[in-house]
Amino acid sequence: MKLFKSFQDIDGNTIDLPVGKVICVGQNYAEHIQEMASTRTRSPMLFMKPNTSLVDASLPIEIPIDKGECHNEIEVALLVKQTINRHTVLDVESQIWGVGLALDLTLRDIQAKCKQKGHPWEKSKSFDGSCPISSFIPVSPDTMSTLSFQLDVNGVTRQSGNTSNMIFDIETLLNEIKSHFTLLPGDIVLTGTPKGVAPLFSGDSIAMKLENKICVNTEVVTCL
Ligand code: ZN
Repeated sequence: MKLFKSFQDIDGNTIDLPVGKVICVGQNYAEHIQEMASTRTRSPMLFMKPNTSLVDASLPIEIPIDKGECHNEIEVALLVKQTINRHTVLDVESQIWGVGLALDLTLRDIQAKCKQKGHPWEKSKSFDGSCPISSFIPVSPDTMSTLSFQLDVNGVTRQSGNTSNMIFDIETLLNEIKSHFTLLPGDIVLTGTPKGVAPLFSGDSIAMKLENKICVNTEVVTCL
């Protein structure tokens, strides 16, 4: 697994931010909550991936061969440009660099066991390479909240969503996150996945799209 070194914009230019942590939200789309037979939370349900989870989404996506089902979760990603903490007044336009696409890869069998035992999720959500990430594009806060995105697997659309359908919108999410964790320049926020999570297999072809703005084509391989 190659360490993720730098963010790129859509033209391949390096974005001058250090690679940091990834803050994720679970259960932010109603139909995904349904498919997981879960229930809505009153406030955003947060978890974290370390920077060792980040890999370039345009490279083959490596999933562990020996850890049960590994599910796709396509999500819109925000790249943090300026420090946001509990003392900061939120200003999305100046504090967020832009948006990209991420896969929140999830080892579903391990996650089910963790949930059953009341254990933390990290083994299922935060393993090496569990967050393939695209390049980023700058967009206005208004555009950010009406973005459609989709994941095709082997030529068939498996997940499609629009950020306007998020239960907790971007401002609400960032306000909740900053009340618990300082976001540093180069940190990433994942905004939740729509319905359509399912296992990936070696040889699957993957197309991730954010409208006509970002398109990543890759394939799934297994690793030990
Ligand atoms: Zn997710």
